[in-house]
Formats: sequence, structure tokens, C-alpha cells
Amino acid sequence: MPDRRSRPWLGTGWKMTKTRAQAIEYAKIVAGEAPGFADEINTFVLPAYPLIEPVARILSPAGVQVGAQNVHWADEGAFTGEVSAPMLTEIGATLVSIGHAERRAMFGETNETVRERAVGALRSGLTPLICVGEPAEQRDAGTAVAFVRRQIEIAVTGLGSEDLASIMIAYEPVWAIGEGSQAASPPQASEMHDAIRLMLMDIDPVSGAGIPILYGGSVDEQSASKLLSQAEIDGLFVGRAAWSADGFLRLARIAAGE
Ligand code: PEP
Repeated sequence: MPDRRSRPWLGTGWKMTKTRAQAIEYAKIVAGEAPGFADEINTFVLPAYPLIEPVARILSPAGVQVGAQNVHWADEGAFTGEVSAPMLTEIGATLVSIGHAERRAMFGETNETVRERAVGALRSGLTPLICVGEPAEQRDAGTAVAFVRRQIEIAVTGLGSEDLASIMIAYEPVWAIGEGSQAASPPQASEMHDAIRLMLMDIDPVSGAGIPILYGGSVDEQSASKLLSQAEIDGLFVGRAAWSADGFLRLARIAAGE
């Protein structure tokens, strides 16, 4: 079960980057330092599928979770090109991001398929990190909270309390993700995280109170500690700034309060 309050989260998704050699080098560097912050923070790395197993062999024993960037809802079947949750757990994955903004924009991911994938992940004991966030038009129109509410409500429809207690949320405003973007300001992020916490507690007061809500979108070493000091920001989901092992380690030390 995710551990929200006691330790902040720091995770990175590598997207479609890194050779096997680069991935192994990164993992070795991070594994060498990870015991130093393992008691302070929860950490994870989400490599591309072929890199999960070699990276998990190195990082899992060091206390860094390793996961995938997507998962299919079925355990097996005629789904060419897809990867299932049992296949991922077998190679050492413990969590999986679902509904990342890039998957929604480029690969037709919908709120309904996000739910299906989350159910498939939970069935195998994989922690779903459900990604939500509004595009710029919704923020400009003042409908960001309603947009995110719909994403969350559909994604968790039908989940029982035990399953709900096992999910994580990443709030990643679409306008803040990637090259040329700027992170949400701490007040902007905080306002949405507060709203998401209320949504989750409306759905299930007990499980909803414990679901970790991570912020993602252009986090860097300048913005990390201010974002983490907001009450309902339980961790950071980072792209570019954590794609080097040194970048990940610097952010880990910030998250650990060093
Ligand atoms: C992301 O794509 O989830 C992300 C947070 O990327 P970046 O930090 O590079 O904006």
C-alpha cells in the first residue's frame, strides 16, 4: 500500500529514452546513494519496457521501486504490441503510470481506458499511478478543477476501498509538462491538490485520505522544495530534471530535506 504522509515521494518516468548501457549506468549510480535517503523518501523509476528488468535488478535491492509507463487491462490475449500486468510483475515492476498526458494526447487514452488499465494493474498487485491534469484551455476557461474531477471520477469508478487505498495520483497539468513549459506555481499546484484530496475523500473518506498525490510538470531543483512544502503535495513526478542519475540524486536530497 502506498505510504503518503510519512515520507515524500520522488519518481521519474524516462519516457522513450536511454540505451540499456545508459540505463544500467544510471541505476548503478542511484543504487550507490539510495540507502542514504531510503528512510526519508519513497523513490521510483519508470524505464521503457525493455529496460525494466535490468534496472530493477539493480535498484530494487537498494529500495528504489521500478515500474512501467503503461499496462494493458487484460492478463493475456490477442492484443498485439501490448504488455500485461503479470508480465511486468514477473520482471520486477511494482508500479505503473497510467493515463500520462502524452498517452492521452498521442495514443488515444481515455478516462475509461485509464480505469480499465488501473483495474488490470491492481489485479496483479501493481500500484497504478493515475495521471490527471488539465490542458491550457481548461485552465484559461476556469474549468480546470471540473476537468480533473471528471478524469478522477471515471478512473476510479467501481474500485472498492482496498483498491482505492492502493492507488496513487499524479497531478500533471498538460501546460506544465515538457520542454519549453514552466512548472505550476506552488499556489496553483496546491489549489488543485487540495481539490483532488477533497474529491478522493468524497469518493471514500478513509482510503481517499491516504492516497498519495504527486505533482508533475517541469519540476526542477529550483521548484522542488517549494512544491513539496505544500500540504497536499505528497511527492514529485519528474521528467527531464531526473533523467540523469545526478539530477535524480540532487532531487532526492532535496525531497529528503538535506
Ligand atoms: C512528465 O512528462 O510526466 C514530466 C513531468 O515531464 P517534465 O518534468 O520533463 O516536464
